[in-house]
Amino acid sequence: MQPQYLIIGQGIAGTLLSYEFWKQGKSFLLIDEAHNISKASLVAGAIINPVNVNRWTTVQGQENYIPTALQTYRDLERILGISLVEEKSMLVFHDERKGQLLKEAQSSSSEYIHPPSRADITLANRFFTGKYGIAKVAPVWKIHAAQLLSAWSDFLKSKKLLKEEFLNTDECVITPGGVTFKEIRAEKIIFCEGAKAMHNPLFNKLPFTKNRGEALLLSVPDLPRENIYHYGIRLVPAAKDLFWCGSNYQWQFNNVLPDPIWRMQTEATLRQWLTIPFEVVDHVVAERPTTAGQQFLAGIHPAMPSAAIFNGLGTKGFSCGPALANALCRQLTDPGKTFSLISKPLETWLK
Ligand SMILES: Cc1cc2nc3c(=O)[nH]c(=O)nc-3n(C[C@H](O)[C@H](O)[C@H](O)COP(=O)(O)OP(=O)(O)OC[C@H]3O[C@@H](n4cnc5c(N)ncnc54)[C@H](O)[C@@H]3O)c2cc1C
Repeated sequence: MQPQYLIIGQGIAGTLLSYEFWKQGKSFLLIDEAHNISKASLVAGAIINPVNVNRWTTVQGQENYIPTALQTYRDLERILGISLVEEKSMLVFHDERKGQLLKEAQSSSSEYIHPPSRADITLANRFFTGKYGIAKVAPVWKIHAAQLLSAWSDFLKSKKLLKEEFLNTDECVITPGGVTFKEIRAEKIIFCEGAKAMHNPLFNKLPFTKNRGEALLLSVPDLPRENIYHYGIRLVPAAKDLFWCGSNYQWQFNNVLPDPIWRMQTEATLRQWLTIPFEVVDHVVAERPTTAGQQFLAGIHPAMPSAAIFNGLGTKGFSCGPALANALCRQLTDPGKTFSLISKPLETWLK
């Protein structure tokens, strides 16, 4: 087997990069370990939100990333024949004590921040306890991540472009001239390993930080599904008539097991916030691929031109991933071009 490019990992990073190669008609093979339930891309809320609601500012660079993201997911919808993007509004609830913040939000010039409509207020009064102010962020977008990853995996398998296997770096020989893994020989290997990249001997000097996040899957049968609801935690309409509820950021941890204390606190917040009953159906956890200074890591190893990485997507995999994948694909297939989206060249850390 002699693909030009060997991609390791099929989270959102590997999915988007392989899509870019496929679009360009490049020869590639994707290797992903099967049945990893702690894949960040499957635990994520998978929201594209142009507003940072803690500060009521628009997210830096969103005007570049979001149009590319929406175009990419809509193109994938057509290719895969499934629905992947849903436009939503997000109702953001505030304690009255935070009235000043709310005022700033409503008088903000951001095209995305609006006062709630009469219907929003009626809905909020019916399904949530009444001691909050509300602002509305719209549009925001929900990406159906599990459906995307599963349908893209089936698509690649049908073309023999995906192998389900764990790539042990000890069994992989990488030289400046190319890459060998078992019977596979490729010109370049691109690691899209998510949080596991911090153990990759070629890239472990990059500024990875350890971070984990978790979510509850809730049954809330009566809650209208046209909105996302935000009150520190978010309630996001998810598959199978459930709501995704999350999340937290833990920086000190030794495992990726569900945290019972976070679950207890989250359930207490929900009981205080919602007027209707809910039931916890599942509790999921994953490590986020985060970096110090929230650096995206996408580029070719400065000392090993046959190896590249696409990582550091942090909390923005679904929004920034498509534009970064497109730029990285162009850099790999046409090295003469400048790769303008990466925040710093990899030489900064890998001398
Ligand atoms: C609770 C939570 C909420 C989030 N919410 C959002 C959100 O609303 N919006 C947003 O944009 N982002 C969100 N994120 C962040 C987002 O999930 C990540 O940015 C993104 O999923 C990272 O994707 P990835 O492909 O780099 O990693 P992953 O999804 O972890 O994928 C890595 C893949 O590589 C495979 N792999 C690794 N090593 C090997 C190997 N050696 N051989 C074979 N396979 C290998 C793994 O099994 C896995 O399949 C959230 C994250 C969490 C945890």
